[in-house]
Parts: sequence; C-alpha cells; structure tokens
Amino acid sequence: MSDARELIIIGGGPAGYTAALYASRANLAPLVLEGFSRGGQLMITSEVDNYPGFPQGVLGPELMDSFRAQAERFGAELISDDVTAFVPSDDPITRPHVVRVGDTEHRAHAVIVATGATARQIGIPSELRLQAKGVSYCAVCDAAFFRGARVIVVGGGDSALEEATFLTKFAASVVIVHRRSELRASKVMQDRAHANDKIEWRLGAVIDEVLGEQKVSGVRIRDVASGVADDLVADGVFVAIGHDPTTSLFRGLLDMDEAGYLVQQPGSTATNLPGVFAAGDVADHTYRQAITAAGSGCAAALDAERWLVTAREAALHASAR
Ligand code: NAP
Repeated sequence: MSDARELIIIGGGPAGYTAALYASRANLAPLVLEGFSRGGQLMITSEVDNYPGFPQGVLGPELMDSFRAQAERFGAELISDDVTAFVPSDDPITRPHVVRVGDTEHRAHAVIVATGATARQIGIPSELRLQAKGVSYCAVCDAAFFRGARVIVVGGGDSALEEATFLTKFAASVVIVHRRSELRASKVMQDRAHANDKIEWRLGAVIDEVLGEQKVSGVRIRDVASGVADDLVADGVFVAIGHDPTTSLFRGLLDMDEAGYLVQQPGSTATNLPGVFAAGDVADHTYRQAITAAGSGCAAALDAERWLVTAREAALHASAR
C-alpha cells in the first residue's frame, strides 16, 4: 500500500526498548528513534538494585545496553537521533503518521511515544549561569570531578538521597538541602543516607542563590520557617528535584494532564489519537520506575499490534463496500 512502516517507537529508555522487543518479536519490524543520548534516565543512574532478575544489582547503563541489544536481536532498527516533529494522521492506515528527524521523514501506521522525562531545575538565574561550572543534574556523570570536594544536593526524594549517597564515594562531604522538614524519599533510601557520616542535612531550607563567578563557590540558603539566610561553602551543586515529561513535540496534538504527562485511555496505553500509544514515564507520574516503564512498553506494543490488525480489517471492509 505504501512505504510506511508498521510501527515507529519514539524514545530509547526501558519503555521504548521493551516496546521494540515485543513489537519486533511480533514481526512489526519497528523503527526506534531512540534519541541522541539514547538509553534514557538509567544512563545517569549508578546501581539499580530494584530491577527484578538482578539479585546483586546492575549498573543503569549496562541494563540499558542489554535492553537495546535484546530489541536489536529480534530485528528492531535503531536510530540514535532526536525526533524534531510529529505530524499525526486521523486515518493512519491510509495516511500514515509522519515522524521527522531533521530533513528525514519516517512514516508509520502506528506510533508509540516513550520519550520519558527530564531533570527539573530550581529556576534561579545563578543556577543557569553556573551550569557545567559546578551546577549539575547528574551525579553519576559528574561526581568524579568533585573528588575530595564539598557538594550540595538539592531535594528530598529518592533521587536526591541516591545522588548524595553516590557522591560520598568521591566528595569529602555532602550537604542535603531540602525545602521541607520531612523527606519524600523511601525509608530504605533515608536509612542509607542517615547512616552515611559524610552526609549533612539542612532541612526546611531553600536555595536563593548559587554563589561564584566562574565556578560554584557555595550557596545562599534561607531557612523557610525563620527567613534567616546563610551561606554554605561548596564546590558543586547537584540538583535532584524531580523530572518533567518530555512532551513538547506533542503539545496541542495529544491529550496531556496539567503537568504535561500524556493521558492514556482507561485500561489501555492508547492516546486520544488513532494508532498513537504512550508508554513509560511520559505518561506516568505515579510510579516512574524502570520496571513499570518496561511493563508499559510491553503493553503499548501489544496494544499497537492489536490496533493494527483491527484497523486494517476495518479499512479492508470499508474499501470492499
Ligand atoms: P520526587 O520524588 O518528585 O522528589 C523531588 C524532590 O525535590 C522532593 O523532595 C521535592 O520537594 C523537591 N523539589 C521539587 N521541586 C523543587 C524545587 N523547585 N525546589 C526545591 N525542591 C524541590 O522526584 P525524584 O526524587 O526524582 O523521584 C522520582 C521517582 O523516581 C520517585 O517515584 C522515586 O521513588 C523514584 N526513584 C527511585 C529510585 C530508586 O529506587 N533507586 C531512585 C530515584 C528515583 P517536596 O518533597 O517538598 O515536594
């Protein structure tokens, strides 16, 4: 009928690769546009201790390499580049969806969006000015630059505590600055951080300014209750305050919630558009785990496969009438 593919998967994290694995085993020969920095959030994660099947834990990048290789083994085609535009169709069997990567146009009857989420910023000018000059969003990427140093970690969730604990392998001391007196992180993560004598705590405090001209020299924090400000000397600031879904390409096209996460139809990974499915963190602000992302990638591939069969049958019946 056309040179369109059956399925394009946008995103190369646990959701995208799992969708690719299931779709390739169903002979859909999917194209995976896995992004320039393929692998998703697990590429900036160190030890993953909660992915089933790895009793001793596994490194995030290693886990992603395995996901990727497994999808490729069954025929998924992978391109390490960023999608620049998505032009959906309301009748994708006869007029396929278009996914652009620069000047190159890819067309498919079904699309799975698995673009994940990105790191949130504090949102102060000094943070932006000192990015890559001591302000970082990835301890695994940058911790080695802070050997023997004193660093700040911002946030009170699992990411912040995990990053702080990881940083103590390199830094001399780590101060966790969190805006509330209660931590959001899981108990196991809290226990681990509390047991680490290189970690200090400044709870109920916010960062008003990152100090330093050419590079970070400290932070100005303010106690939320008293309003009292004070300066902490530090060589680096690791911001670990959560993530935002990567959905700007789909704004105005796919239904989203108020936080920008894609909305799935009840009991399905289908979006509001025919033949377009959402998988992983891009549609999940509740669980956001590698295992839940992988599970939803599987579900999206199965949903896409079933949708293709049904939609093609419907198109045949329509043309026979
Ligand atoms: P999160 O759970 O949303 O926590 C974000 C933290 O940053 C919260 O403590 C929040 O404060 C704080 N925060 C948000 N915006 C802020 C701002 N503008 N200024 C200052 N502080 C701000 O995000 P996360 O820690 O990245 O975790 C995301 C999900 O991944 C969670 O479900 C988590 O369990 C999971 N995760 C699991 C692991 C693991 O098991 N190995 C590791 C990392 C993440 P409030 O508490 O006041 O809202």
